[in-house]
Amino acid sequence: MVAGDGNGWVACRCGQRHWGRFGAAGLLALRVPRRGPADALLQLRAGWVHEGGSWALPGGARDSHESSVSAALREAHEEVGLTPRQLTVHGEWTGADHGDWRYDYVIGVTAPNPRIAVRTAESEELRWVPVDDVGSLPLHPALALAWPGLRRTALDVLGRHLADRATAPSATTRPAGGPGRVG
Ligand SMILES: [Zn+2]
Repeated sequence: MVAGDGNGWVACRCGQRHWGRFGAAGLLALRVPRRGPADALLQLRAGWVHEGGSWALPGGARDSHESSVSAALREAHEEVGLTPRQLTVHGEWTGADHGDWRYDYVIGVTAPNPRIAVRTAESEELRWVPVDDVGSLPLHPALALAWPGLRRTALDVLGRHLADRATAPSATTRPAGGPGRVG
């Protein structure tokens, strides 16, 4: 196992090239306020990168030893500073599976006010966007294609999360995502 061994292009049977020799993964981080709709964390791609000026999720190539979840969490930490401690993973959704290559979305709910910051030159801005408004942003083409299915899955995940929270009153007195929580 070598860190970064997933970096590279795949010549896919679909006729396109994709980034990530072992596939790729991204993180849909959701923040759930006490009231009102949930927000999704998006990053604006810098003008000089591929598809610059579009909004995307933190993510990137999977290394050979990584699951989609570990790849997405690593990328989220590298790109926006989100730590696993600030996030609980609630689900996964495969946005594309071409046989030779796939892209998995990992869906997580963050602590109420996670510390985030732009940490890569490839990104210009981070923004919490209400889930229902994401589709009206100029999205990266791959995210635009995946968004209807990803949004449905995210809303299912949120529904289960909120139901769990409602039936676990002690959760409100416990520090969310405290030490020792795993995924
Ligand atoms: Zn393909």
